[in-house]
Amino acid sequence: ARTPLLMGNWKMYKTVAEARSFAESLGQQSAALVDGVEYAICAPYTSLHVLRVMLPANVKVGAQNVYPQKEGAYTGEIAPGMLAEFGTRFVLAGHSERRMLFNESDQMVNHKVRAIAEAGMIPVLCVGENSSQKQDGITKEVVTGQVQQGLDGLSQEQVAQAVIAYEPVWAIGSGKTATPEDAQYVASEIRALVADLFGAEAAASVRILYGGSVKPDNIASFVREADIDGALVGGASLEPSSFVEMAQALK
Ligand code: 13P
Repeated sequence: ARTPLLMGNWKMYKTVAEARSFAESLGQQSAALVDGVEYAICAPYTSLHVLRVMLPANVKVGAQNVYPQKEGAYTGEIAPGMLAEFGTRFVLAGHSERRMLFNESDQMVNHKVRAIAEAGMIPVLCVGENSSQKQDGITKEVVTGQVQQGLDGLSQEQVAQAVIAYEPVWAIGSGKTATPEDAQYVASEIRALVADLFGAEAAASVRILYGGSVKPDNIASFVREADIDGALVGGASLEPSSFVEMAQALK
C-alpha cells in the first residue's frame, strides 16, 4: 500500500521569519497531523534550513528546483548534494511555472529528475496539460509524453521511490480543479505507462499526486480515487491552519 503524501509548494512565498512562524504554529498543532500520512513542505532555498530544524519530525522538507550538476561554474545555481546535505528529502522537477517562465524542456527536467535520484533524494516530477491542450483533447498524450521523458534513464527502484504530480496548468492558482474522475483517469494512465516502462512493481509503488486549486474542502475527493495518492498544494499550504485542515480531511 502506498503512503498518502500531503505536499505543500510555497513557490516564492515566505521569508525565513515567516517560515519560522509557520513551523512554530504547525508544531503547536502537530497532534492534528494524522498518522499514516507523509507530510512535506517545498520551500524557497533560503528557508530549507530553518524548516528542517523547526518543523515537526513527521513533516519532511523539499526544494522546488535544483541544477543537475555536482558542482561547477554555474553562478546562481544549487547542486543536488547541497540540498541533500541538510536533509532535503524531496525536490520538485518540471513544475509548469518553471517550464513556462524559465523555458525548461523535457530534457532539462529529465536531467534534474536523474540528478535528484542519484543524490539520494526523491524527485517529484510535475506534469500537466494547458487549457488549449485540454480543449484539443490531447491531455493523455501530453501528460504521458512528459512522464516518459521525465523518468527516462531511472532504474526501476528509483521510479518505485519517485513521486509524479499531475497538475493541469489551467487549474493552478485558478480556483478551478479537474474533476476527481478526470484526475483519476489521468493518474491511471500515468500508472499504466509506468508499468509498461518500468514494470508492475514500480507502478504499484510510485506515488501520484493531484495538484491545482486543492483546498481543505476538496482534497478528500481527489485522494479517495484509486490512483491518486495525495496532493501537491500551493496557496492552501501557506497557512498552518489550512495545512492542518487538509491533513484532517485525509483521516
Ligand atoms: P495552487 O494550489 O495554488 O493552485 O497551486 C498548485 C501548484 O502549482 C502546486 O505546485
